[in-house]
Amino acid sequence: MVSKIMENVGSVLGQIRAAALRAGRDPAGVTLVAVTKTRTVAEIEEALAAGVCHLGENRVQELRTKAPLLQAHQATWHLIGTLQTNKVKQALEWAELIHSLDRVPLLEELVKQAERRGRPVDALVQVNVSGEPTKQGLAPADLEPFLRLVAQQRWVRVRGLMTMAPLVDDPELARPYFRRLRELRDQMQALGLEGVSMEHLSMGMSGDYVVGVEEGATLVRVGTAIFGPRD
Ligand SMILES: *Cc1c(COP(=O)(O)O)cnc(C)c1O
Repeated sequence: MVSKIMENVGSVLGQIRAAALRAGRDPAGVTLVAVTKTRTVAEIEEALAAGVCHLGENRVQELRTKAPLLQAHQATWHLIGTLQTNKVKQALEWAELIHSLDRVPLLEELVKQAERRGRPVDALVQVNVSGEPTKQGLAPADLEPFLRLVAQQRWVRVRGLMTMAPLVDDPELARPYFRRLRELRDQMQALGLEGVSMEHLSMGMSGDYVVGVEEGATLVRVGTAIFGPRD
């Protein structure tokens, strides 16, 4: 029997595909990250059964609890939420991509822990494109100096940018923020900094991932549209 979650995964993948084709993009260039915060292991297993291979948690505590229980599925875990420096060590045990690199002390701690592990860390730099005070992320003007710092070391490899658009009812209103992130990506790519690649744009959640894909997202972070409303 096909569950509601499996059905939702199919529908989200279909919408991603259609949006990519509309934008003249290869649908294979967009990865669905199923956001599993507050969801049970059983719910997550349904999404995995429907073909999801990338999972996202925004809290390290939840990541550490669930990831070991789902190890057999060999999914790739993404840490998408704010990361406290004292949680970096634990996060790196499970997360393969950090979406929320947004400040120098966090960069320093990632470098330290990566060096200790003897393994470089992949991260996206979170940018606060909307400038809302409640949002995490570097101001666009601080991005270039930050990436120049990144380029001075070799343990943290930046792979692209992440942003969150303001929460609004009409997804069209998210478009300018996603477009701006893509423009920033192009500008930063042109700097040609060592250890900084700009292959990823992580943008789009349940309410606006279609617009995200149209504007160039390579990673969309979708929770509610797969698992239903959170409590
Ligand atoms: C919860 C969360 C999402 C997914 O939100 P939905 O609206 O449920 O799709 C995406 N990104 C981040 C950083 C989140 O914390």
